[in-house]
Amino acid sequence: MGYADLHIHSTYSPDSASTVRAILKQATDAELDIIAVTDHDNIRGSLEARDLAPQFGIESIPGVEVSTAEGHVIGLFIEAMPPVGASLHDTLVFIGKHGGTAIIPHPFTNLPGSLSMESVLKALASPATKSIVRGIETHNLGTMSFNGVAQKLSIYLPLARIGASDSHVYWTIGHARTEFPGRTALDLREALNRNTTVPILDEDKFTPRIFLSWFRYMILRRLGYATDTHSAAQPVNTQRMTKSFLMKMKKR
Ligand SMILES: [Zn+2]
Ligand SMILES: [Zn+2]
Repeated sequence: MGYADLHIHSTYSPDSASTVRAILKQATDAELDIIAVTDHDNIRGSLEARDLAPQFGIESIPGVEVSTAEGHVIGLFIEAMPPVGASLHDTLVFIGKHGGTAIIPHPFTNLPGSLSMESVLKALASPATKSIVRGIETHNLGTMSFNGVAQKLSIYLPLARIGASDSHVYWTIGHARTEFPGRTALDLREALNRNTTVPILDEDKFTPRIFLSWFRYMILRRLGYATDTHSAAQPVNTQRMTKSFLMKMKKR
């Protein structure tokens, strides 16, 4: 069996302070086989993670959490950035055209960014998009109080059930995860298609500490700091750091 955390935010999201390297290190410590860095409307962190992941002994699937006119959707296995603010239908068509597959994150809540049941049913009824949507988060660590609704309604949907941390603080990575037969990204994709995933959430890990920690990291981030190691938040010019990573990758 393999374990994947398919919803993680890096410094490419305005509301996370975890660098891609801190994410990969934590994912290794959490004994995950697969991760996906899925930043808000930005695919660059996931491409960086995909390139760096082999150094950490894991696989990172390229992807993004894109804001559609109806709410957030996660595109996985794509390397092109979908247009932001388009309809859910057009966004899914884009993801499909670029060889990707989609997961519905934190569904059926009143929170901003949450897709409604009506939107999801519409996507599943359309011949153009029904085979592109493959999974639904039933165990999101960040929106845990709403998971019950997603779990009850997902029974009626032909979608693989996903556990994901929706991590904005690196140490929550892996506290919600998806179990799947096999170990590789290809195995995971097969499991999404066959609906054989098992969502897992460590309930005892959901504490106010997550929010307190997030606030602390957000204040640090405003001051120009990012969490690049486990021991401390270090001053990092994230833009410059990313450029140097890309240059290093190019030199190989
Ligand atoms: Zn979201
Ligand atoms: Zn998210």
